[in-house]
Amino acid sequence: MPNSTQPAPLIIVGSGLAAYTLVREWRKQDPDTPLTLITADDGAGYSKPMLSNALGKGQSPDDLIQMPVDKVAEQYRARILTHTRVTHIDPTTQTLQLDKGEALSWGRLVLAVGAEPIQAPLEGDAVDRVMSINNRLDFQAFYERLSDRKKVVIMGAGLIGCEYANDLASAGYQVELVAPSESLLTGLVPEQVGQALKAELEALGVRFHLGPLVSRVDRGEADSLTVSLTNGQQLKADVVLSAVGLRAKVDLARAAGLEVNRAIKVDKYLQTSNPNIYALGDCAEVEGLVLQFVMPLMNAARSLAKTLAGERTPVHWPAMPITVKTPACPVIAYPPRGDGAWQIDGEGANLAAVCRQGDAVIGFALSGDRIKERNTWLKAVPPLLAT
Ligand SMILES: Cc1cc2nc3c(=O)[nH]c(=O)nc-3n(C[C@H](O)[C@H](O)[C@H](O)COP(=O)(O)OP(=O)(O)OC[C@H]3O[C@@H](n4cnc5c(N)ncnc54)[C@H](O)[C@@H]3O)c2cc1C
Repeated sequence: MPNSTQPAPLIIVGSGLAAYTLVREWRKQDPDTPLTLITADDGAGYSKPMLSNALGKGQSPDDLIQMPVDKVAEQYRARILTHTRVTHIDPTTQTLQLDKGEALSWGRLVLAVGAEPIQAPLEGDAVDRVMSINNRLDFQAFYERLSDRKKVVIMGAGLIGCEYANDLASAGYQVELVAPSESLLTGLVPEQVGQALKAELEALGVRFHLGPLVSRVDRGEADSLTVSLTNGQQLKADVVLSAVGLRAKVDLARAAGLEVNRAIKVDKYLQTSNPNIYALGDCAEVEGLVLQFVMPLMNAARSLAKTLAGERTPVHWPAMPITVKTPACPVIAYPPRGDGAWQIDGEGANLAAVCRQGDAVIGFALSGDRIKERNTWLKAVPPLLAT
């Protein structure tokens, strides 16, 4: 190839699982096109789901690094700008602006910027001490904060809150979990399954406050915190962990004039409303679906790699159940889309809940030893996104 026709670089914003899976898959097909990654964090390759299982396994934040950033750069022949934030994207000139002042030109751009934790509206003089964990560096800060502190209050009874409750309790911490819902994993599983998980976490020592919200976090005696609930109760804590949900990062895309809904809107080819800009992972809404889990983004990365290499390939999402990493009571769920009737079989922690619309199975939730039925029910449910 003559020098003058050196292809314009592909730029990927992000260094999470979406970015790194895409890089790996794309480099298999295109070893030559210049590639730049820009990331606000340290660029170390790690698997985010391991953040909520690490304490129980005695792993430190460093133990979770699967590939240091210089190895990623070498292996995939990529230039990786770490601790660098993209502040603006200009689709007309095909440039982007970095917080450090530099501007870069791209041929095609991929946004893999993820999601950010929702901040609950709290009062009190220790709101700045409320932590959330959405990347390895957050986990490091949490880990350091824990040191020999013992009492953790968790806000939120979704997947992340429940996984941390289990992990912290099994690592010997005293855990209290506050959430406004009546049960756990609301939206993912029917109430009985949530109650089964609750009972097993209680047996592990987790104390639940379901119904109220946290309203204030104030400095208490010495280094401790006082957590006030809307029902008037007060809890003592050494550390407060907020896990009340994630919101796709859409600001860059919106400011660049791209179509945004709950996340950055893309079609089946992961293409945004600008034909040279793509998005995948937690920041993307694919044909109306925002699936902030690993399997969908890996699948999306494989098809986008082909599309970027010249073989236009739509995303096909089969049924992908969600595994909740709560060893006290493992849960696997494929939440139904649309209304159906749940039928629940089993007892204690071992439940199989199946949701039907007429005769068709449209979702399921399994807990305890019934998770072994995963493949049976997986065969029965419809795909997430058919091609
Ligand atoms: C504790 C926890 C446990 C989880 N467990 C599971 C599980 O068991 N199974 C499962 O399927 N899913 C799980 N998930 C969800 C899963 O981890 C995510 O869906 C996935 O990691 C998202 O990857 P991503 O690459 O899209 O986003 P991220 O990993 O969030 O990556 C976003 C990247 O973009 C960068 N970035 C953002 N904005 C900018 C900017 N302006 N400039 C430069 N860089 C920027 C960030 O620095 C980061 O590198 C879990 C999530 C958490 C938090």
